[in-house]
Amino acid sequence: MFMRLESNPGTMDGTGAETAFGTLANGTRLAILEALYDALRSHDGPGQPGVPYTELRERVGVKDSGKFNYHLSELTDGFVVKRDGGYVLRQTGRTAVQIVLRSFDVDDPGFGPTRVDADCPRCGGGVTVQYGQGHLTTRCVDCPGLLAATGLPDGTISRLPFPPAGAATRDPTALLDPAHRRLEQQCRSMTDGVCPRCGGETTARLLVCGDHEPEGVCRECGTTLPAVAELGCLTCGHERLAPPAFARTDTRAVWEAVTTVLLDDAHAWDRFETTARWSQTLTRTDSTRVVVAPPTGTRLVIDDQLAVTREE
Ligand SMILES: [Zn+2]
Ligand SMILES: [Zn+2]
Ligand SMILES: [Zn+2]
Repeated sequence: MFMRLESNPGTMDGTGAETAFGTLANGTRLAILEALYDALRSHDGPGQPGVPYTELRERVGVKDSGKFNYHLSELTDGFVVKRDGGYVLRQTGRTAVQIVLRSFDVDDPGFGPTRVDADCPRCGGGVTVQYGQGHLTTRCVDCPGLLAATGLPDGTISRLPFPPAGAATRDPTALLDPAHRRLEQQCRSMTDGVCPRCGGETTARLLVCGDHEPEGVCRECGTTLPAVAELGCLTCGHERLAPPAFARTDTRAVWEAVTTVLLDDAHAWDRFETTARWSQTLTRTDSTRVVVAPPTGTRLVIDDQLAVTREE
């Protein structure tokens, strides 16, 4: 039987986020949410059995029943729902555990810069990766890279958010592909109109630099690429920049052109590097369209909405 939830439960209305964080700012409450999360892990969804009160209290390890009951009642309806046989988490409760306990609580495994076996898309030079503050940054050791912005180290090729929980379990070299794979998947979702973070509506467009400087990082657009794909969410502001062809590896034309060089689906960094290299020599047909000319002979036309057509 499906559980019917109140659309606007007591503790979550009014000031919304502020109230929610106020409710969560307590160790016992976080421990209750985490205990439920762990207990219900393998039973996600409508059929999940509730965790009985006694078992929950045991898992959290609070002896004082008055104190435990008070904190549990503060969470009830907003984050936790009581139903026959026990307690379950609402989606808000699961999200709270994932954000508060699984993201902030992990020590940031900062590392690098470490040299990896990869080539700079701009000059073919050596590449390093470093991780810190939730971001993986790739840099060229020989040239200005692709991006320049305040706070970015010299030679930045890409800077991608990557959750610390996922970074902690991989070594620097092994992070290169998953981080760029994630960017590729986010681009797919966003060119499809759906924000991968919040589900909101997105915009996808081609930004062509009007006055691009061919040497070094252009002062006009802050990149060494004459055009980039810009994807943005209208609801949460999530934003991604990518080489135009990389943002559209979901289209047959781009995919075929890329996989002629790289047959292996797993090599997201190689696709990033290849499409960024093509982007160095983009030809502009007019103010809104660019032509990418992979060495395979097929010319790809990418328009201002990031639609791709083949020009034989
Ligand atoms: Zn370089
Ligand atoms: Zn420019
Ligand atoms: Zn969003």
